[in-house]
Amino acid sequence: MIMSGEHSLFPTYGRYSVSLVKGEGSWLWDDQGNKYLDFMCGLAVTNLGHVPQTVKEALVKQLDELWHVSNLFHIPGQEAAAKLLTDNTCADAVFFCNSGAEANEAAIKLARRYHQKVLGTGRYEVISFHQSFHGRTLATLTATGQQKVKEGFLPLPAGFVTVPLHDEAALKAAVSDNTAAIMIEMVQAEGGVHPVKPEFMQFIVKLCQDNGLLLIIDEVQTGMGRTGKLFAHEHYGIEPDIFTVAKGVGSGFPVGAMLGKEKLREAFSAGSHGTTFGGTPIASAVVKATVETIIGNKVPQRALEAGNYLMGQLREKLAGNPFVKDIRGLGLMIGIECAEPVADIVTEARNRGLLVVTAGPDVVRLLPNLLVTNEEIDEAVRVLAEVLAEKTVAAS
Ligand SMILES: *Cc1c(COP(=O)(O)O)cnc(C)c1O
Repeated sequence: MIMSGEHSLFPTYGRYSVSLVKGEGSWLWDDQGNKYLDFMCGLAVTNLGHVPQTVKEALVKQLDELWHVSNLFHIPGQEAAAKLLTDNTCADAVFFCNSGAEANEAAIKLARRYHQKVLGTGRYEVISFHQSFHGRTLATLTATGQQKVKEGFLPLPAGFVTVPLHDEAALKAAVSDNTAAIMIEMVQAEGGVHPVKPEFMQFIVKLCQDNGLLLIIDEVQTGMGRTGKLFAHEHYGIEPDIFTVAKGVGSGFPVGAMLGKEKLREAFSAGSHGTTFGGTPIASAVVKATVETIIGNKVPQRALEAGNYLMGQLREKLAGNPFVKDIRGLGLMIGIECAEPVADIVTEARNRGLLVVTAGPDVVRLLPNLLVTNEEIDEAVRVLAEVLAEKTVAAS
């Protein structure tokens, strides 16, 4: 019997019965010719919209010149991309890799290595938070504060502790002589769109200072302008020792990066960490063009304005809907918490041409591209208000 190609894949995703074949800006088309307004962006990846011209031009130019060389050589494009990132952030050094999980893995390794090789403290433990998401490698799924990503993968690596978010006493109690670092997302994204409270962040910064801990911020989803600043930690006026980026930094090309402070540089000597594909000429050209476009066009500022507009419209148009429990977020990462699971809302929105995604069972997550227009926002809010209103009627 001839099966469809789907049968040739491990069933690791519950896929929608839609095949998207073309994208432009905020819009996607499926193989049946249906058009969709994209408010999920491949999960916060296509921050400049689909097929952004500046990035496409840089990619096409690089495709004609050189695709891949080993990191045993200098790669001028990689150095240029790194300089662009260090010139525009609090970081001094960059390690390029291929995904968010790999960037976080590098961060965990760097924190351990700094304590063990530079400071000689021998510390190794990383404290992270309930409902966090840090990736799918064995180390990063262990750091992830959600049971569902850990099931069936025992034994998990040692050296990880999770505590409730915003619980100062529990966090303080978790710090021991083995603690090397605290790892946190500025807005818990997969965990339900929960921005970290500024007072709690200040508590963490002080705790790190007092105990000689490194602060690692996972900006894989919040980074690259998503929250209205280039990186979300800028909202908090803090400087992490290490932060990670992936999703939005490649406009859809698979890249990740770990960025760190000067004092950490010596912890990674030649041969201590690496990856074949990190920062290849192609990946570097894409990162450089993406970052240049985001900074040069003041895209984070636009994301802030669009986010305020979207939030205002949602608050207005969903006001009084008893099914809607909370609307929260930062910039263009917004969650609508509902009274019941929202999988059917996501499906119904898609049937009406709007792509959104869940964040945990009860939250509808909106992640439009950062150049989304007010008209596109109006259209998305109209569909959501319609779907949520029908849901309320059906429930009553
Ligand atoms: C998506 C995500 C990751 C994992 O990134 P991958 O590229 O899928 O490995 C890690 N942390 C956060 C906050 C994420 O949103």
